[in-house]
Amino acid sequence: MSDGCSLMNICTQQTIDTTLTLKDTIIETDEWDLNFLTTNLPYITVNQLVAIPALKETDGSDSIGRTGTNTRHFTIQSAYNLQRERYCSIEGNWKRLWSWKGPHRIQTFMWIAAHERLLTNYCRSIWGSGISHLCPTCGNGDETIIHALRDCVQSIRVWLRLVSSNHMTNFFSLNCRDWIFDNLNNNKMGSHKIEWQTIFMVTCWHLWMWMNKSIFEEEFHRPFNPIDVILKMATEIHNCKQTQISGWPQRTDTIFIG
Ligand SMILES: [Zn+2]
Repeated sequence: MSDGCSLMNICTQQTIDTTLTLKDTIIETDEWDLNFLTTNLPYITVNQLVAIPALKETDGSDSIGRTGTNTRHFTIQSAYNLQRERYCSIEGNWKRLWSWKGPHRIQTFMWIAAHERLLTNYCRSIWGSGISHLCPTCGNGDETIIHALRDCVQSIRVWLRLVSSNHMTNFFSLNCRDWIFDNLNNNKMGSHKIEWQTIFMVTCWHLWMWMNKSIFEEEFHRPFNPIDVILKMATEIHNCKQTQISGWPQRTDTIFIG
């Protein structure tokens, strides 16, 4: 189609033969097969098609090609351009997320969460996979991203010990995306004199990992003291950052090896 869309996407039949090529829509007298077109495509599209002269043998080989390239072969650039057209960027302050000095997997995780692309049961139930939309951990609500990361009983227990009491109301009232951006861009210090952004990111990542592991790994048990695990990792990240700023501490150890 002129807009680059495949005819398969607008076919009016439920079952589509994906091996069909253009010559299957042309009859022996080198004209469009109107019967075939009208039973498979919307009326407007049929009119657009029959306005184009039907192709003949002499026009070259008939094969399925890729849109967006001159050669009709796949190129990485054509895939990238197609992706860019469909990508809808999310407004927000991403600067602090990407300048954060910590494990890249946690940065990427937060980026996916802010795009509301974490695969939750609520999301899967919308796709019609027959899976319950409820949270398997508490059963007290839809397993949405904000539920898993903040509102589930397991997550609340952790946050109550990390969030300062004067920020509690705001923390538990924002919607998912605002909540993520608000905390990512928060300059205040959290426990142990570690930046709140680091504690927030590390906590979200752990909560998500623990929730997944407790569902998919039979042997897994949540840590007895989750705050210790979170603060241990957050401290390591914080110390690495300090080392980067001030250089390695001048310390010598003597090890007797023989
Ligand atoms: Zn829950």
